[in-house]
Amino acid sequence: MAAIRLAIVGVGKIVRDQHLPAIAGNPDFSLFATASRHGTVDGVPAYTSIEAMLEAVPEIEAVSLCMPPQYRYDAARVALDRGCHVFLEKPPGATLSEVQDLTRLATAKRRSLFASWHSRYAPAVEAARAFLSSGDVHSVRINWKEDVRHWHPNQEWIWAAGGLGVFDPGINALSIMTHILPRPAFLTAAELTFPENRDAPIAATLSFRDHAGMPVEAEFDWRQTGKQSWDIIAATSKGEMVLSEGGAKLAIDGKPVFSAPEQEYPELYRRFAAIIKAGQSDVDLAPLTHVADAFMLGKRKFTEAFHD
Ligand code: NAP
Repeated sequence: MAAIRLAIVGVGKIVRDQHLPAIAGNPDFSLFATASRHGTVDGVPAYTSIEAMLEAVPEIEAVSLCMPPQYRYDAARVALDRGCHVFLEKPPGATLSEVQDLTRLATAKRRSLFASWHSRYAPAVEAARAFLSSGDVHSVRINWKEDVRHWHPNQEWIWAAGGLGVFDPGINALSIMTHILPRPAFLTAAELTFPENRDAPIAATLSFRDHAGMPVEAEFDWRQTGKQSWDIIAATSKGEMVLSEGGAKLAIDGKPVFSAPEQEYPELYRRFAAIIKAGQSDVDLAPLTHVADAFMLGKRKFTEAFHD
């Protein structure tokens, strides 16, 4: 099959860090154009809006939407209306209902819609899922703590309503949790901490349980300096499982059992090509649903103003 003619919308940090190398390494895609108000990619025709790009280059078959989530829906509608397959960066949108609307449109247009969750493709995630399905899980603890000044300097959108604040990385933990737990969990309590000058939280604590009462406690914090942690720890009948470094490493009772080179974005593009070939969509709203529940059920606390 000829390579799928792909365009990227919203050329920023994640595009340069991950999308461009993953696309260059995947013969199923050829990068045909970009649409971004400022960003461009050397040697690739550049437009400043998705409408102008699809008008000028009607051969485009698929688009990757890599702008902040608050601006994804309108671009996705334009692309689907034009008959393109759509890759949504995470989180797939600013609300659940807009992503459901896109899913309906993709079905009507017979195009593939991909709500990508890159952390699910971290190397040790499948091994963790297999381990948890092999015994009884007694409890789970998630520690997702990083320094926002290091990872998200001057990203104003992330602090705006719909930018999710600490849930921007935290939703990665939730995307792994919802993939590896043998039974679905649901939120029972939450506390969200907002800087007094921002519309999105800097920290959150979440309590979940599943129908059998198995507890999951999660702590997301953006004020972590020094050692960063992206860990999921499970107490099970077969020992303590530690999935660390955002899903890169797995240890059981302190013994490393799995580690492999990171391949998240190459895997995402393999999956996108596969669903296009199969005529399917892949839209799992479970991680975004937990975030919405946290905003719905969570108590709010305010803390000192945050300045970059
Ligand atoms: P970013 O660099 O701040 O933004 C990406 C691009 O989106 C910007 O360069 C900008 O391009 C465009 N953009 C920014 N504000 C916009 C607005 N108000 N309206 C329309 N376009 C706007 O962000 P990023 O870090 O790449 O993240 C983008 C998405 O990828 C987010 O959903 C994030 O959660 C996800 N993601 C990020 C990372 C990461 O490590 N950074 C990892 C995984 C996933 P123009 O100015 O040229 O239009």
